[in-house]
Amino acid sequence: MAGIYLHVPFCNSRCIYCGFCSTVSRNLRQKYIPALKREISARRDFFMPLYESEKTIKTLYIGGGTPSVLPPETLQEAVSAIREAFTFPKNAFNTLDPDEFEFTVEVNPDDITEEYAQSLRRIGVNRVSMGVQSFKDEHLRWMRRRHDSQTAINAYNILRQSGIENISLDFIFGFPLMTLKDWEFNLDRITELNPEHISAYQLGLDPDTPLERMEKRGEFSLPTQEDSEMMYKTLQAKLRAAGYIQYEVSNFCKPNFHSRHNSSYWKRIPYLGLGPGAHSFIGMAREWNTSDIASWCNVATLNLRGGENLSPQDIFNEILMLGLRTSEGVTLSTLRNSSPQSPAFIAEFLPNLHSLEAKGLLTLDKSGTIKIPSEKFFISDGIIRELFVC
Ligand code: SF4
Repeated sequence: MAGIYLHVPFCNSRCIYCGFCSTVSRNLRQKYIPALKREISARRDFFMPLYESEKTIKTLYIGGGTPSVLPPETLQEAVSAIREAFTFPKNAFNTLDPDEFEFTVEVNPDDITEEYAQSLRRIGVNRVSMGVQSFKDEHLRWMRRRHDSQTAINAYNILRQSGIENISLDFIFGFPLMTLKDWEFNLDRITELNPEHISAYQLGLDPDTPLERMEKRGEFSLPTQEDSEMMYKTLQAKLRAAGYIQYEVSNFCKPNFHSRHNSSYWKRIPYLGLGPGAHSFIGMAREWNTSDIASWCNVATLNLRGGENLSPQDIFNEILMLGLRTSEGVTLSTLRNSSPQSPAFIAEFLPNLHSLEAKGLLTLDKSGTIKIPSEKFFISDGIIRELFVC
C-alpha cells in the first residue's frame, strides 16, 4: 500500500497567516501540467524498491495552495497522467469506499459551483477537504480569506448534493479576534453541518508571513496559551458530545471517516510527493522538491530535489512523535523493531517515560502501548520533546 500527494501551488489571493508553498501569479499555471508530466516521467520508478503487493496506490491527495483554482479539465489532465504512470486498485476513481481507495481534493468555498462539484465526482474524487476557518465574516476578512461564511455553507451543501459523502472542514482557533464565545459559535455551526471529518489548528506565526510582520510591529498579540487551551478543550468537548472521535491532536472524525492519507503519513507508509515543495518518503529516505515554484514549473527534474537518509535515531524519534500525536499511541515493540540500535534508545528514554507517566502526562499499559491522554494533547509537543533520544 502506498500514497501519492500532488501539490497545486496556486491561490487567487494570500491569507495573512499562510506559510505554504503557493503563488498568486497566474502566468505559471499554464506550465503546471507539462512540468507535472516531466516530473511523473522522472519518478515512475519511485515505488520500485517495494514488493509488488505494496506498490498499489491506495490514497491520492491533491492539496495546495488551492487545487480548486484549477479548471476541472486541468485537474482531470493531472489525474490522468498520474493514473497512467502508477498502479491503482481496479475500482479506484469509481468508488465511495475510502478503504478501497481514498481520493481527496482540497477546495476553497468560493470555487465551488454545482458544475465544479460534479466535475470532481466525475474525476473520481470521493473526499473533499474545504478550508472554512471560521463562520464569522470579520474573522475571514481579517485572515484575508476570499469567502464569507454563507459562501462556505452554500459550498458545503452543493458538495453534499453532488454526491460527496465524505467532507472534511478545516478551522483555525487561537487568533487575536477570536473569543471563546466566537469559537463556541463556530463549533455549533460545524456540528449542525455534520461533516464526516474536522481538522482544527491553533494559529501559528509562520516565518515571512504578513501575520508575523504584523506581530513584530506590535499590531496585535496572540491569545495567551491558557486562552487557547480553553478553546482546545472546548473543541474536544463539543465534538465528542456531537459523536466525533479524536484520532489525532488536530483531527476528528465520525466513526470510520479518518483520513486514510494522513494516517498513512503517521504510520510511515511510503508516499510520493509531486509538485513544488512536495515531500516523499520511502524506506529510510525522505526527499523534497524545490519550493521555488517558477523553477519547478520550468524544470521539474531530479536535480531540483533535496533529500536525506534518516538515521536510526531520526527514525526512532519520528515514530515516537507521529505515534504519540494519535489516539492509538505507539507501542514499545514498534519502537524496538525500528533499528538494531533501538534497545539503546529505549534504555535512554525509559527514565523520562516513567517520569512523565508519574506526572500523568502519558500512559504505558501492560501491552506496552504508550499514549498521551487526550486531555494532555494540547501540550503534546512539549511532552514528546522530552522523550526524544539524542
Ligand atoms: S488559500 Fe491556503 S494556501 Fe492559499 S494563501 Fe490561503 S492558506 Fe495559503
